[in-house]
Amino acid sequence: MSSSYQNTLEFARDLDKTDTLYSFRERFLFPQHEDNDVRYFCGNSLGLQPRSVSYLMQKELDDWGKYGVEGHFRARNPWFSYHHLFSERLAKLVGAHKDEVVATNTLTVNLQLLMTSFYRPNRDRYKIIMEAGAFPSDQYAVETQVRMHGFEPDDAIIEISPRNNAYIIEEDDIIAAIEQAGESLALVMIGGVNYYTGQYFDLERITEAAHKAGAYAGYDLAHAVGNIPLHLHDWTVDFACWCSYKYLNSGPGAVGGIYVHEHHGNDPKFFRLAGWWGNEEKTRFKMEKGFVPQKGAASWQMSNAPVFNMVAHNASLDLFDKAGMQALREKSEQLTGYMEYLLKLINHLPFEIITPAEPSRRGCQLSLLFKERGKEVFEKLSQSGIIADWREPDVIRIAPVPLYNTFEDAYRFYEVLANME
Ligand SMILES: *Cc1c(COP(=O)(O)O)cnc(C)c1O
Repeated sequence: MSSSYQNTLEFARDLDKTDTLYSFRERFLFPQHEDNDVRYFCGNSLGLQPRSVSYLMQKELDDWGKYGVEGHFRARNPWFSYHHLFSERLAKLVGAHKDEVVATNTLTVNLQLLMTSFYRPNRDRYKIIMEAGAFPSDQYAVETQVRMHGFEPDDAIIEISPRNNAYIIEEDDIIAAIEQAGESLALVMIGGVNYYTGQYFDLERITEAAHKAGAYAGYDLAHAVGNIPLHLHDWTVDFACWCSYKYLNSGPGAVGGIYVHEHHGNDPKFFRLAGWWGNEEKTRFKMEKGFVPQKGAASWQMSNAPVFNMVAHNASLDLFDKAGMQALREKSEQLTGYMEYLLKLINHLPFEIITPAEPSRRGCQLSLLFKERGKEVFEKLSQSGIIADWREPDVIRIAPVPLYNTFEDAYRFYEVLANME
């Protein structure tokens, strides 16, 4: 494809004309720059607001006002079963059965809760493999889990780094480390897409290797969900969690989501920290002693659903459902490919793209590492109405999101860089 791309505005606009997902951008609110929509490349950090959110939020407020406590059963979307609203659409997004997913809590909290279930070390089997340079919250979570069980992070955590001066981690190295750790390995916990480089890992292969070693495999999918088609059930992934405010456009601090393979989720003896919302629904309001977990991932819920924190999630999942993950992925590969093609034409600025070049090893993010002038480029972009993401010390991350970014957006980004001295 790249040989047939062209670096002209006309060409970019022609691609937009044939884009069957183009109209989805009208369903979002864009920040303004000099009375125009910004070119928004930060969907991997905080997704845009679906236009329907304020109407849907008002609907919930009205039901609360109208029904008070009775809204638990009488609201148009009854609060008692509110989390059920999301299961089917979430299951489609991550490739799971309906009972294997639930929208609940927030990401790091869920990661801690899930590790409480899936990291049950003993003296022989206590090691955790993760990627070097993981998102800090994940590092802190793993570090404190290890300490909680009386182990030392330096001994118990095996971090897989890139080779030599590379930025990308070789999957072969992860597999080799899993095999080497063998019977001492309790858990592999990796970010499905690395937030910094944008590298996507082959989760099926890693899961298989982890299981061969007798360990569990769980993933933080913050940057993968809504970005890359996933098949968690078929890959026999044990657990996963994600946030919904990045690609899933559900608003700052919005409800997170979890996946637990039914093999564990349907086993009432499998350990989980409990709260009343994870209890069997039939007996939940009987307020009796003795936790009886309901079937599936929903048994990891603790508290009643944060309804107002889930309204935008509802709106956004509808858009994903209408667009379809497969169509989004196809556009994503083309759009990211076009952006990459354009950036490679820029020879006068000192940066390299550290995101893998193979589409199978990345989603819709490109990370540009600057040897110098990074901040200057970033500021030039901001002045030009382009919102990208600056990561210390020297990286500009951009996410051309298929749901609302255009090929013209990609061209305009290129144009700013091309026109710099
Ligand atoms: C965004 C992100 C987080 C943020 O965690 P919260 O609990 O939602 O604040 C954690 N881990 C990863 C990998 C992320 O990308």
